[in-house]
Amino acid sequence: MPLYHTVVHNCHCHTFQDVIFGLMRIVGTGLRDAELKASEIDFFGRGIVATTTLEVAEHYAQRLHTEVVSASGTLLGTSVEPA
Ligand SMILES: [Zn+2]
Repeated sequence: MPLYHTVVHNCHCHTFQDVIFGLMRIVGTGLRDAELKASEIDFFGRGIVATTTLEVAEHYAQRLHTEVVSASGTLLGTSVEPA
């Protein structure tokens, strides 16, 4: 079965905490890995937060996009791409 990446894109409206808590709650990432991933997204402009089936990758991307809302009300940038 082909695998897909869920990608989170960096922005200037979401905090590290927004991203860390979102990854922990929605993807099930552990605290330390979520902290490292948030740093990676900040540094590289994007980061792969999950690699899984298309259905699950799209589910994570959709939930991260709509549920990780910044203090100013903006949605988190996410995408899905082939692994
Ligand atoms: Zn943002």
